[in-house]
Amino acid sequence: KRRGRDLVHIYSESDQDSENLRDTIEWIHQLQQAIANDQIVLHFQPVIEIRTREIAYYEALVRLNIDNKLIYPGSFIPALERADDIKLLDHQVVAKAIKYLADYPEIPRMAINLSAHAFSDEKLTPLIEQKMMQYRVDPKRIIFELTESASLTNLAGTLRMIERLTQLGCDFSIDDFGTGFSTFTYLKQLPAHSVKIDGSFVKDMPDDPIDLALVRAIHEIARSLNKVSVAEFVENQETLNLLEEIGVDFAQGYHIAKPAPIHTFLSAEVKALVD
Ligand code: C2E
Ligand code: MG
Ligand code: MG
Ligand code: MG
Repeated sequence: KRRGRDLVHIYSESDQDSENLRDTIEWIHQLQQAIANDQIVLHFQPVIEIRTREIAYYEALVRLNIDNKLIYPGSFIPALERADDIKLLDHQVVAKAIKYLADYPEIPRMAINLSAHAFSDEKLTPLIEQKMMQYRVDPKRIIFELTESASLTNLAGTLRMIERLTQLGCDFSIDDFGTGFSTFTYLKQLPAHSVKIDGSFVKDMPDDPIDLALVRAIHEIARSLNKVSVAEFVENQETLNLLEEIGVDFAQGYHIAKPAPIHTFLSAEVKALVD
């Protein structure tokens, strides 16, 4: 329509490419603005240990706060991941998250999401180490979540980074497990301590026997590899009960708590989140 009336335009792949490119360029600009104006904020979502119902850690989730309106990562991360500039965001998130750990000793541990590009980023590991030193944060309080897209293509680089940070005491978790192209290769190659079962399998567990079977199977695989299992998208009590029955170790989701600013969780009243 933009091109005018009475004009047939054949849609081709390169149109998609140029649209993606435009989108990426706009978000890079937006990100740079947000960094300059200090508009990058972290919200936190608790993860409970199912056995005790206690908060084991908080996952840091990034948002852009532009004119008091929050923009969620679903709208900008895919665009930024098409470019190297996602590294800028990773740097911001890592620095902020580690500062939170220093400012709030009552946070037991924190999970930080890393983008697919993080593993080809030579500067990231030194930055993480520098921030942990600067703020005197125990590396044992940090879990890094990687998605399967986080490149088996650069396996050597990925392994080097994981090895170094594991040596220091950080843990690694495979995020959104079960949705990638090479799930099992990933599981085999990466020394992760935990597997986060993708929410798409967890969400409908009570009504969908296939999902229930898949969650059970993923948990068994994790356990036989000496990894702990985490379920995301726990949206009701029935799901939590089923996960407990299966033996899944940790749970996260709207039924337990929605992501929110950290002070929401650190006030004394919020102790028991679920039955
Ligand atoms: P994720 O790491 O798998 O995070 C879970 C997402 O699911 C979060 O969305 C969270 O708000 C949402 N969620 C949590 N519980 C429930 C539930 O019970 N039901 C449903 N339907 N959704 C739930 P969010 O915050 O929009 O983040 C989306 C994705 O963006 C994240 O998926 C993660 O891959 C990425 N992301 C978030 N923060 C960062 C970051 O700081 N750096 C990088 N590189 N990626 C990030
Ligand atoms: Mg995550
Ligand atoms: Mg996840
Ligand atoms: Mg997910």
